[in-house]
Amino acid sequence: MLMKLCIAAAVALGCTLAVPGASFAQGDKDKSAASTAAEPNRVDVEYAPPKSSAHDALYRLVQELNLLEKTRDLLAPLRLPRRLLLTTTGCDGEVNAWYDDGVITVCYEYLDWVWQSVPQQATPDGIAPDGIAPIDALVGPIYQIILHEAGHAMFDLLNIPIFGNEENDADQFSAFFLLQAGKEDARRLIGGAAYQYRSGVQSANQNITTKRLADVHATMGQRFFNILCLAYGANDELFKDIVANGDLPKERAEDCSDEYAHVAYAFNTLIGPHIDRELAAKLHKSWLPPINSQPPHRPAALGTRAPN
Ligand SMILES: [Zn+2]
Repeated sequence: MLMKLCIAAAVALGCTLAVPGASFAQGDKDKSAASTAAEPNRVDVEYAPPKSSAHDALYRLVQELNLLEKTRDLLAPLRLPRRLLLTTTGCDGEVNAWYDDGVITVCYEYLDWVWQSVPQQATPDGIAPDGIAPIDALVGPIYQIILHEAGHAMFDLLNIPIFGNEENDADQFSAFFLLQAGKEDARRLIGGAAYQYRSGVQSANQNITTKRLADVHATMGQRFFNILCLAYGANDELFKDIVANGDLPKERAEDCSDEYAHVAYAFNTLIGPHIDRELAAKLHKSWLPPINSQPPHRPAALGTRAPN
C-alpha cells in the first residue's frame, strides 16, 4: 500500500522512489522484529450455528468430520504473529469462502455446493461408478478450499511477496499442502478436489463468458488441470494414471515436475522459515476417514447453485 501511495505521489509531487523504498525497508524491519514474537498453535475454529435450518444437517456433518479441527492441526506448526480463526457460517445464499483480516470464512452454502456433487452410490469398497469414493468427493474439495483460504491468510500474516495472481498462488499453496499428506491420503485428497473441478472440463466448444474469463480466479477447467499437474509433478509414479487415462494431457504433463519444483522452492523459501519443525514432525500423515465411509445423503430440498 505504501508503495502505491508513493507512486501516486511521485507523479503529483515529484517524490522519488528511493525515499519510499527506504521507508518500505524500514517497515519490513519493524515487521520482522514483530515476527520474533510469532508463535505456533495460533489457529482457532468455530462452527457458527446456521442461519437457515436447511443447513442443520450440514452443520452436524462438518462437525462430525472434524474438518476445521483437522485443518487447524495442519496449520498449527506455522508461527503466526496473531491468531487466525477458521469458521463456517451461513452466508444468506452466497456460495463462497474468503479470508479477511485474520478470519477464514467458509459458507455453509459453499459446503453444500460440494455436498450436492457427491455420488450417492458406491461399491462396498467405497468407490462410485465414476471412480471416486464419495467420502473423498466430499472432504477433498473442502480441505482444498479451506487451505486455499489459508494460503491467502499466510500471504497476509507472514508478509509473503506475491509475484503474479494471488488466487493461483493460493491454489498452489493448497495443493502443495494436500500433497504433503501420506501417499494414500494425497491421492484421495487430490482426486476429491479434482472431482469438483471436473465439471469445468467440457467439450472444446463450450462457451465461457467474457466476464468469467476476466475473473481473478482461473476457470474450473484450468484449476482442474493445474492441480493434476502439481500432483503429477510431485510424484509421477503415484499419479501416472492421470496421464495414462488422458485426464492430464501429455503436453502439459511434460513440464509438471518443473511446476511442482517452483512451488516447492517458493514454499520452502518463503513459508518454510515460519514452520515449527518439531511440531510439524509430530503431525500424523493420515487424516482422512476410511475410504468406504458413506457420507449421509444430502436433503433434496436444498437448491444451491455453483459459485460464479
Ligand atoms: Zn482466493
